[in-house]
Amino acid sequence: MPFITETRDFVCSVCGASSEHTIITETDPPQGVPDIDLRPAEPHRGYVSYWVMECPECGYCNAMLDMPADIDREYLSSKEYLSNGGIKDISGKAAEMVKKALICVKGHSYKEAVQSYLYAAWLLDDENAEKQAKACRTAAVKIFDGHPAAFKNDPNFHILMADILRRSGEFSRVVRDYEGKAYRSQLMTAIAFFEVNLAAKGDSAAHRADEIPGVSAK
Ligand SMILES: [Zn+2]
Repeated sequence: MPFITETRDFVCSVCGASSEHTIITETDPPQGVPDIDLRPAEPHRGYVSYWVMECPECGYCNAMLDMPADIDREYLSSKEYLSNGGIKDISGKAAEMVKKALICVKGHSYKEAVQSYLYAAWLLDDENAEKQAKACRTAAVKIFDGHPAAFKNDPNFHILMADILRRSGEFSRVVRDYEGKAYRSQLMTAIAFFEVNLAAKGDSAAHRADEIPGVSAK
């Protein structure tokens, strides 16, 4: 059993309604080799759908509904929120994850917003919803570009963005921004090199970390 789930009641921090949600309470350590964007290998790939919940009463989305919201309740009925930030034809957990990203932006939690859009993209990758997954990655890039101070001293996000850009089809930008890029970490330098090579070939597919030259599977 890779992880154990439990269903319990959560009280919404926005409207006070109580609703039932399933969360992960215990997990085995991740096995196998993750994707370059750190999406875990099976059997932990499906984790992500437990990382968000929606209040059935007011529509508030967050990792846990009892977490404080950085928004006014009115925002939950705004056009932006109800339309999933303009990303069309998404539903279920992917839409909840996009709504969480919108709330993170409102609260200036830009890194968490990028992560949430990435998680939404993973869920959409699983549905083969290519266009919608791309729209989520593009939304993540927009946050990264729009709030440079939040990401300035974080090489982890800088290198993660290489994969998000490539998977959203921004090949020339990956080559321009990452070619010859050296990081303090050798692994990151190897990832940048690998991403540039894939981008130069117009490859927007998911790749595993052990495909990077010099990186072996553990
Ligand atoms: Zn609520």
